[in-house]
Amino acid sequence: MAEIRVENLRKEFSGFTAVEDSTFTVEDGEFFVMLGPSGCGKTTTLRMIAGLELPTSGRILLGGEDVTMKRARERDIAFVFQLFALYPHMNVRRNIGFPLLAQGVARSEIRARVEEVAKLLRIDHILDRPVSGLAGGDRQRVALGRAIVRRPMCFLMDEPLGTLDAEFRDLMVHELRELHNRIGATTVYVTHDQMEAMSMADKIAVMNHGIIEQFGSPREIYERPRTMYVADFMGSPPMNFLRLHSGLQKGDASIRMGEADITVPQLREDVAPSDLMLGVRPEHVRLDNASRLRGEVLGAEYLGTTQIVVVETGEGTVKARIPASITVNAGETVGLALNASHLSLFDKASGRAIETALYEGGAHG
Ligand code: ATP
Repeated sequence: MAEIRVENLRKEFSGFTAVEDSTFTVEDGEFFVMLGPSGCGKTTTLRMIAGLELPTSGRILLGGEDVTMKRARERDIAFVFQLFALYPHMNVRRNIGFPLLAQGVARSEIRARVEEVAKLLRIDHILDRPVSGLAGGDRQRVALGRAIVRRPMCFLMDEPLGTLDAEFRDLMVHELRELHNRIGATTVYVTHDQMEAMSMADKIAVMNHGIIEQFGSPREIYERPRTMYVADFMGSPPMNFLRLHSGLQKGDASIRMGEADITVPQLREDVAPSDLMLGVRPEHVRLDNASRLRGEVLGAEYLGTTQIVVVETGEGTVKARIPASITVNAGETVGLALNASHLSLFDKASGRAIETALYEGGAHG
C-alpha cells in the first residue's frame, strides 16, 4: 500500500493537450475518484499512473519512489479495466489464480490465496464454476479477485462498472467501497458518474478539458464548489445560478437580488454585483410567501418524497427541492427563500468562486 503523488503531469497527443499540469496526492489507503465527462483526460491520467502511457512532462511517485520512466510491469499496481477479459476456458479459481501462476508462485500458496480472496469477495461458493455462465456482478468480482490476489501497492480502476445494468451497479458500488474498507489499498477510480464518485470516494478530482477544476472530499466539492463548472456538474438537479443586480454600495455587506437582500462578505473594490452569479442548490431553496424574491411556477417534477419545483424569477430560473406534500400549481406566483448559510458566489467571467466565509444573515430582507 502506498501514497500516489502526481506532480505537474502533462500529456500532449500531437499538439492536443489531453492532461494539463495536474498535481495531486492520493494518500496511503485512500479511495480517490477522478470524475468528469467523456474526453476530459481521466483515462489518460490513469494510464500514465499505470505506466501504460508516458507523460509529456511531470513526475509520478508511488510510495515515494519516482516511477515516471518505469514500465507498467515494473510498477506494483493492479489495473482493473471496464471490459476485463476473463479467460473463458478457465474456471473462477484458475482465473483468479492466473497472475500468481504467471509469477511462479507455489501451487499450495496459490490455492490458499485464491480461497482467501474468494472469501473476501464472497464468491468462494462458485470457485469451481466456469466463468462463461456467470452473471455481470460475479464476473466483476472475479476480475477484482484477479487484481487483489497479487496484493499490489495500489489499484487503478477505469469505469469498472460501466457495463453493468443499474441494479448491479448500485450493488457493486456498495461492495467496492466495503471491500476497500476491508483491504484499505490505495485506489484510483475513474468514472463520469457523480453518484458513484460521491458514494465511494474519500477524495474526488473533478476534471474538465484536461484540468483539475477541484480536488477535495465529496462534501467539500458538493457544498463549496470552487467553480461554476463543478457546481453545475455535481448534483441532480445541479446548482441554480442567479443574476445579481446593482444596489450594492461600496463597502456594503449585502447584495440586493430583486427585492431580497443577501448578505455577502465584503467585495473587492473593483468587483460589481453585476460581475457575479449567486449559486444555490435546490435543497437550499424553499417556498416562503413572506420573501420578496418572487417568481412564477413553471412546473413541478414529482419524485415521491420530494418534488422539484421550477420557478422563473427576474434573476433566472430556480429549481427548488421541496417536500412532495406541498401543493404547487403551474402559473401561480410564489416567494422563494434561500438558505443563507449555503450560498456560493461566482465571478461570471472566470467562473471561479469568490472565497466566501460563511454567510451571515437572512436571504430575504
Ligand atoms: P472517456 O471516459 O471517454 O475515456 P476520458 O476523460 O477518460 O474520457 P481520455 O480518454 O483521457 O478522456 O482522453 C482525453 C482526450 O485525449 C480525448 O480528447 C481523447 O480523444 C484524447 N486522446 C486520448 N488518447 C489519445 C491518443 N492515444 N491519441 C490522441 N488523442 C488521444
